[in-house]
Amino acid sequence: MSNEMGTCVDLHCHSTVSDGVLSPESVALRAAQRGVNIWSLTDHDEVSGQKLARATAQSQGMTYLGGVEISVTWANQTVHIVGLGIDEDHPALVEGLRATRAGRAERAKRISDNLARLGMPGAYEGVLPFAGNPELISRTHFARYLVQAGYCPDVQTVFDKYLSDEGPAHEPMQWAKLACAVSWIHGAGGVAVVAHPGRYHYTQTQLAAFFAEFKDLGGQGIEVVTGSHTPHQYHEYAQVARDYGFLASCGSDFHSPIESRHDLGSLPGLPSDLVPAWQGLV
Ligand code: AMP
Ligand code: MN
Ligand code: MN
Ligand code: MN
Repeated sequence: MSNEMGTCVDLHCHSTVSDGVLSPESVALRAAQRGVNIWSLTDHDEVSGQKLARATAQSQGMTYLGGVEISVTWANQTVHIVGLGIDEDHPALVEGLRATRAGRAERAKRISDNLARLGMPGAYEGVLPFAGNPELISRTHFARYLVQAGYCPDVQTVFDKYLSDEGPAHEPMQWAKLACAVSWIHGAGGVAVVAHPGRYHYTQTQLAAFFAEFKDLGGQGIEVVTGSHTPHQYHEYAQVARDYGFLASCGSDFHSPIESRHDLGSLPGLPSDLVPAWQGLV
């Protein structure tokens, strides 16, 4: 995410605290090595990596923004809301995230049962060594286990065959309410940003209603340039940002050097007329 001023920004990525493969410290060092200047670690529903991420980032001369990616259910589908510039110790945020994580272990057992019915037994025991944080077993960890066990050649194939939102082993969850996620982020002093809006399977009408509700709740931004968007979608969501008056954010959504299509700091800059989500936070 470099621009002509030489600023390189990456405000969305994951560590072993959620479903990334590198420790918070290693992700920070990799971001710095790759030229990132303004950085945020945004683990799913969990902030326990923030202090190490911040300390390492600052030791490398990067500007750090506290971050999180909260799982939300809206109209029976999962959406992700990124919080940037948060105070990770804010009690309402900490408690909200704890409640959001609760139920993941039981869900993991149900996913394992589904996989057993599909001919892949023992996945619950198999997945545990892949989850760096026992409170945060995600579908990505199952995907890595199934690759290692030889059922699929790579993580993407596991999602395509079994674990996508429509896949036969998927177990839907009731995640946080949109209003709660936004209020936890705001209470913690952060800016709320819709992650990878191009990835959701809403109708156009639903998506417009979602953006309008998010805006009404005080939500400020959307990701425009993300590793989850095609270049065509950069333009599409840049226009959404203009239409709704949203701040624009950018991030690789880096999880792993092997699995991720986009490495830290590798995406193009935002269109210059958009207001960056990190403005006012750095
Ligand atoms: P969970 O929070 O356990 O439902 O897992 C969600 C994570 O799984 C996302 O953050 C992605 O890292 C990954 N994921 C979800 N859907 C897909 C997909 N279709 N292809 C690849 N990865 C996916
Ligand atoms: Mn993930
Ligand atoms: Mn996401
Ligand atoms: Mn993510």
